[in-house]
Amino acid sequence: MNDTIAVIRGDGIGPEIMDATLEVIDALGVGLRYDFVEAGLAAQEASGELLPQATLDAIARHRVALKGPLTTPIGGGFSSLNVELRRRFDLYANVRPAITIPGTRARYDGIDIITVRENTEGAYGAEGQTLSDDGQTAHGVIKITRHGSERIIRYAFDLARRERRKKVTLVHKANIMKTTSGLFLKVGREVAAEYPDIACNEMIVDNTCMQLVMNPQQFDVIVTTNLFGDIISDLCAGLVGGLGLAPGANIGTDAAIFEAVHGSAPDIAGKGIANPCALLLGAVQMLGHLGLIEAAQRVRDAIRETIHAQDHLTPDLGGGASTREFAKAIAARA
Ligand code: NAD
Repeated sequence: MNDTIAVIRGDGIGPEIMDATLEVIDALGVGLRYDFVEAGLAAQEASGELLPQATLDAIARHRVALKGPLTTPIGGGFSSLNVELRRRFDLYANVRPAITIPGTRARYDGIDIITVRENTEGAYGAEGQTLSDDGQTAHGVIKITRHGSERIIRYAFDLARRERRKKVTLVHKANIMKTTSGLFLKVGREVAAEYPDIACNEMIVDNTCMQLVMNPQQFDVIVTTNLFGDIISDLCAGLVGGLGLAPGANIGTDAAIFEAVHGSAPDIAGKGIANPCALLLGAVQMLGHLGLIEAAQRVRDAIRETIHAQDHLTPDLGGGASTREFAKAIAARA
């Protein structure tokens, strides 16, 4: 195991929730060390650059980063720093668990869904996006490759096997998008045949959205293309209590970046009331990735117990505690 990770504290509420998260991790006594580097507004203020080379080098060196939310200034040279990081390190798998925690104001009980979203191709590529001179016609390109589909679908099946999950749902729109979504589905069927121990079903994306709202407990692991995965994973976050509890991992072959799904929340930044759980759950994913399975489980259990006991919760969860107090309550149980 590498014992040093790159840490980007981030912008807005980033430093507050990162400090809280590291306090919980330190309480585990697993001996993880941190190489603090900067990106986003904090980096721009310090060095004039949004994404300094030293930060990219640290991520490449340690291969694992924990990242607070970043603010991308408008006109800063990147459409999004997060998209740029995914591109630089070819972080092809966006893995987003949505799990109900008793004691939150979630809409449903018993949800435990992991969405595995293809992160590098599909409808989100900048290449081939054009607007006619008169501004009346826009063209986009959806690029799906066998290579891109195969590696993300294989990632989902391997994850299902590793985490002893039972089913993978291939989400597509191959009935209409016969070539692009059709290729993804075709590759999906081929890969699924190699995993006879994992059940596999196929579902059209619109039906998936309805099924997620009506009967979300039927889902286990979902794997899908970039745009569908973006939407579905937010839908899943909404089912289990919203942004304050939604983590995400961006995984590639050579590096992995773990984060909260939410942004820098400028409206509450500096007030010390942000919920640290989304980033902390990102850190839980990171501990699992580093092979620290037992430590990951301890944090997961500590979050559940703290929320269930309604002990020092932040305002978004209905409490009146600060980020720090909430983290201390979790650390005491971890
Ligand atoms: P946001 O996620 O920052 O905030 C949306 C709402 O959720 C706000 O009301 C905020 O107060 C609340 N919220 C978010 N996280 C919370 C937490 N941990 N605890 C309690 N409440 C929380 O979205 P936004 O306002 O649209 O974006 C703000 C900035 O963040 C933008 O610059 C955007 O580009 C950036 N952003 C970064 C990331 C990332 O780095 N991964 C993701 C999304 C947005």
